[in-house]
This record gives sequence, C-alpha cells and structure tokens, in this order.
Amino acid sequence: MRILIVGGGLAGLALAIALRRQQAEVDIIERAPSWPTQGTGLYLIGLATRALQALGVGDAVIRNGFTIRKQSLFNHRGRLLAEANVETFWRSCGPCIGLPRVVLHEWLASKVTNARVRFGVTVTSLTQSDSEVTVRFSGNAQGSYDWVVGADGIRSTVRRLAFGSDATAYRGQMGWRFIAPLPASVTGWSAYLSRGRTFLFVPIDRDRAYCYADEVIAQPDSATHSRLDRLRELFEDFPPVVRQTVDALKSDEAVHYSPIEEVLQPDSVRGRVVLIGDAAHAMSPNMASGAAMAFEDALVLAELLARRLPAVDVVHQFFQRRVPRIEWVRAQTHRRDRMRNLNPLIRDIAMRMLWPRIYAANYQRLLDAP
Ligand SMILES: Cc1cc2nc3c(=O)[nH]c(=O)nc-3n(C[C@H](O)[C@H](O)[C@H](O)COP(=O)(O)OP(=O)(O)OC[C@H]3O[C@@H](n4cnc5c(N)ncnc54)[C@H](O)[C@@H]3O)c2cc1C
Repeated sequence: MRILIVGGGLAGLALAIALRRQQAEVDIIERAPSWPTQGTGLYLIGLATRALQALGVGDAVIRNGFTIRKQSLFNHRGRLLAEANVETFWRSCGPCIGLPRVVLHEWLASKVTNARVRFGVTVTSLTQSDSEVTVRFSGNAQGSYDWVVGADGIRSTVRRLAFGSDATAYRGQMGWRFIAPLPASVTGWSAYLSRGRTFLFVPIDRDRAYCYADEVIAQPDSATHSRLDRLRELFEDFPPVVRQTVDALKSDEAVHYSPIEEVLQPDSVRGRVVLIGDAAHAMSPNMASGAAMAFEDALVLAELLARRLPAVDVVHQFFQRRVPRIEWVRAQTHRRDRMRNLNPLIRDIAMRMLWPRIYAANYQRLLDAP
C-alpha cells in the first residue's frame, strides 16, 4: 500500500507512526524547509496522552511534560472562582501535561523511521481514479498512491484541491500566544476571565509557562505590528501576575497573534483522499482538544487501513467513528464561548457553583476510546 501524507505536523507524524507496523510505503511531504525549531506551547489533555501511549511515545512525552493536576479559574481581579481536579477526571485515560510544542514535535519526528520525508515540497494537483490517486508535486515531480492524506493544517491545500472548499470560519476572537517565565504563584493551569478577554497560564516546565490570551472582537484584526501594545492595553486591569508577564515581553516578534478560526468541512473523505487533524476540523482551542483529535484521527485511520478493507468501507467507518466525536467537541467549544461571554456576574456565579460539573459534562463522553 502506498500512502502519501501531506504535512508533517502533529497529525501527519502521528499517522506515519501509527502506520509503522504495516506493510506500507509511506511518503511525507512538508512544505517547511525543516522540522520546526521554535514555537509556543501546548496543553495536552488525557485524551492526547492516551493516544500518544497507543502510538508508543507516551512515556517519553509525559516525562518531558509538566503534569497539570488542576484547572483553576479566576476573575480578572485575581479572585479564585473554582477549580476542577483534572488529575482525577482523566485517571482512566492519561495525565494532562503542558510542554513546548517543539519537544512534542521532536519526539514524534524521531519515531518516524518508516517514511520518506521530503521538505520544501507541496502538492499542486490531485487526480483520482477508482484504484489510485495521481499527485503532482511542486517542482513538477509526480507520484501515484493508494491513499493521499491531507494533514496540512487549517489552510489545507489538499482540502482545496480535492474538496474545492475553503471551509474556514472566523470564531470572533483574536488570540495571542507566547512563552514566558513561570510566575511563582502559578502551579497549574490558571485562567483569568473578564468579559470578552481571557488570559491563561499553562506551566510547560519548572521555569516556563505557555501563555494564551484572547479578545472577543467582531472582525479579525490584521494590525499585527502593534500586537504587543494591544495585549498590554487589554490586560492592564488584570492582576499583577498577568500584567507583569505581559510587561516583560520585549517585542511584537515574541508573540504569535492570529484569528481563532474553525474548519467547517462536512465530509473529510473523498474517494481515496482523507483529511485529518486541523485540515478536517480545526476548532477553537478552548477545549484543548486539537492535538488529541489529530492523534485519534491518525490511530483510527491507520487501524482501518491495516484491515485492507475496500476503500468505500474505510471511508464509511472512518466517518462513523470520527464525525460524531469531532462534532461533540466542536459543540462544546461553542458552548464554552457562549458561557465565557455571559454577563460576568452571572458567569462567575455559574462558574463557582458548577465549574467541575461543566468540565465533566464537556469531556465525559470522550473518555471511551475512539
Ligand atoms: C491559538 C491556538 C492554541 C492552541 N492550543 C492548543 C493546545 O494547547 N492543545 C491542543 O491540543 N491543541 C491546541 N491547538 C490546536 C492544535 O494546535 C492543532 O489542533 C494541531 O496543531 C493540529 O495539528 P495538524 O498536524 O493537523 O496541523 P498543523 O500543526 O497545522 O500541521 C500542519 C503541517 O502541514 C504543513 N503544511 C501546510 N500546508 C502544506 C502543504 N500545502 N504541503 C505540505 N505541507 C504543508 C505545515 O507546515 C505543518 O507542518 C491550538 C490552536 C490554536 C490556534
């Protein structure tokens, strides 16, 4: 079986690893010139670490991550509203961890021993017959594959070529991401909420935190040159732990700034072309489920391909096993956005009384393996 994976991000690498034990010729093409050497952080929930265990890289990644035991919500004055014990909640799956993105990427890439990886290459056309897909690459080379998997992220070229759709939609928020020194008072996942503004710390090791901030804003903002000034201005009425972290940033370049978008692609399989990860279903990061869903896609697809089923059965079963789960997560991200944007008085009362129950209700359905 010949499989082309377009994109060497979390989804693409996970799929290559999941295909390790199969008699398959796997090619990965990655548009970037090399694996990333810098980036921000990631919060991996128990679903993601369970999937990493299934891929055989769980122990190493968990050892290199910072174990998160609780998620704490504060109001924008720094008053604790509620805590959810995520260690207990995810016990049947795996721990929740924070870690630098590049660390995860390095571990995954180091386990891809079964694929030919080509950097600086993309796909320019896809032509399908019943039995194969003919691919033209940048540079004009050509290849034929039994399956082509689009793991090329939110702006997927494979999605555009095979499905003819853009499918991205703005979620009404702009997001900032950066790495900062870990404040002494931050011991776990800690989010500070105000109306339309959120600031989150996720420890990624003993000295550093991954910080994520967002602002509700009707239209995407393209003024990336003043993103740090905007961040400082927006969070100046937040507690000192947030203000000092933001004030210590030195330049716009230290901060990633982008619209929060989702991909609304109704079908993720067409013929012998399959979309996985963000290419199929990018969504708001407020459930921290992007990596988990990408890994699960990879595991399920590899399992179906291993059974050498007819293509139509692969398509059907992949759809049945993935779509309801993904749509559940998406619905929770929308619910969380609505909740966050309630009148702060009502929201804070609801959070104080219900947060651990809301947390469990968001994720309970996902505890069973995909
Ligand atoms: C602000 C923000 C914060 C987030 N925080 C978290 C979090 O804490 N935890 C979590 O689980 N998830 C988080 N996510 C989601 C998570 O980042 C994604 O779900 C995950 O990275 C998806 O992996 P992927 O491999 O599908 O896509 P990507 O990581 O985007 O990888 C796609 C790869 O394809 C390559 N590529 C693109 N186009 C082409 C092409 N035409 N040809 C060849 N290669 C191509 C790219 O260079 C890249 O290497 C966050 C997302 C955002 C926006």
